[in-house]
Amino acid sequence: MLTSEEKKELWIVRVLIFFVVLLFAFWLFPKVSRPNKRFPASNTCIAWLKQLSGAKEQWALDNRKAKGDLPDWTDIVGERRYIKISRACPAGGIYSLNPVGQPPTCSVGTNDSAPHVLSPLITRE
Ligand SMILES: [Zn+2]
Repeated sequence: MLTSEEKKELWIVRVLIFFVVLLFAFWLFPKVSRPNKRFPASNTCIAWLKQLSGAKEQWALDNRKAKGDLPDWTDIVGERRYIKISRACPAGGIYSLNPVGQPPTCSVGTNDSAPHVLSPLITRE
C-alpha cells in the first residue's frame, strides 16, 4: 500500500508528465503543419493570377486587342486601371502578364509542391 505522502508524490509526477507531453505536442505541432503553409501561399498567388487574368481580358475587350497583344503593367495595374494595387507572390515569385490568349504566370510555376499556375478552366481567354 502507498502512503498518502507517496500518493501525493505520484499525483505530482503524473501532472508533470502531462504538462511535458502537452509542451512537446505544442513544440511538435508547427513542424507537422509546416508543409501545409505552402498551400495557402499558392492559393493567394492563384487568386491574384485569376484577378490579373480577368483584368487583362477586360483590357483586351476595352481596347480591341487581339490574341498575341501584350499589355503593359501600367495598362492593367494602377490608379484608374483595372486593378488599383499590385500584389506580390507570397513565395517570392515574379509575375508575367503574357500576351492576350495566354494566362498570366508566376515564376514559381510548378516548382513548388503546390503549383502557382492558373488552371485552364479558370482562364477564359
Ligand atoms: Zn506565385
